[in-house]
Amino acid sequence: MEEIIIGSHVSFKKQDQLLGSVKEAISYKANTFMFYTGAPQNTNRSAIDLELTKKADEMMKQHGIDKKNVIVHAPYIINLANDTKNYDFAISFLKQEIERVETLGIQNLVLHPGSHVGLGEEKGLKNIIFALNQVLTEYTNVNICLETMAGKGSELGKNFEEIKLIIDGVKQKNKIKVCLDTCHIHDAGYDLNDFDKILSMFDRIIGLNKLACIHVNDSKNIIESHKDRHENLGYGHIGFKNLLLILYHPKLKDVPKILETPYIVTEDKKNSYPPYRFEIEMIRGQKWNSNLIEDVIRFYK
Ligand code: FE
Ligand code: FE
Ligand code: ZN
Repeated sequence: MEEIIIGSHVSFKKQDQLLGSVKEAISYKANTFMFYTGAPQNTNRSAIDLELTKKADEMMKQHGIDKKNVIVHAPYIINLANDTKNYDFAISFLKQEIERVETLGIQNLVLHPGSHVGLGEEKGLKNIIFALNQVLTEYTNVNICLETMAGKGSELGKNFEEIKLIIDGVKQKNKIKVCLDTCHIHDAGYDLNDFDKILSMFDRIIGLNKLACIHVNDSKNIIESHKDRHENLGYGHIGFKNLLLILYHPKLKDVPKILETPYIVTEDKKNSYPPYRFEIEMIRGQKWNSNLIEDVIRFYK
């Protein structure tokens, strides 16, 4: 059987850049990963170091990580949907981010479409389309993957129809892909007890060929809660069984799967540890680990 493409969010620190990210992914026994090129909540970015990238590439090769499956996530503070606040900055920042991703030699950049913040859905979608048309040219070497959102506040991209509307407005359509987040679509109202139905809707409305990445997260909240709070696999309202069906879906075997589940916090709240090594283990074993919290703390403390 072919191996599942599975990884998690990892850090990208100034000192080691991509090399540090690869090492972290390997420590989780992952064969792909996703990172922000700096802190997700700000736009301070350092220049990409080509030497470190080269070393990272070598290490990926040695460990069977195919770079085409590696994902970058754009900082979530850039909002393309509202043109009354920092709109020009968001556009120019995204242009620079695309250049950084190109320099890193990575193919896919995940982006939250944005929140209209009072402008209304129609104007918000228009703003997103305008911004993407500023950013994507025929020379762009990176795909922007629009992430499906939970519909928290005035978030756009909360259903497949909105994603499709954005794609329809973008001139460089072949450079727009989609990242499906299981927690987000559940919180937006899609019932993951029938994933095949969701997948055929996705195919009909957007097209399965557009699906470039899946964020695999459980949800702390019930369906249609519009909350966007991720939970560890099998500890939330989606459930391990439903997530496994997605992870091993035959139509999605070439799509990288990325965990963005929360760190495990110790009882005294003084430390928190990544759950990914153990979540990847339970995915590969296809068996839920009811001792995840204890196992993670024992391993890292
Ligand atoms: Fe995201
Ligand atoms: Fe996500
Ligand atoms: Zn989320």
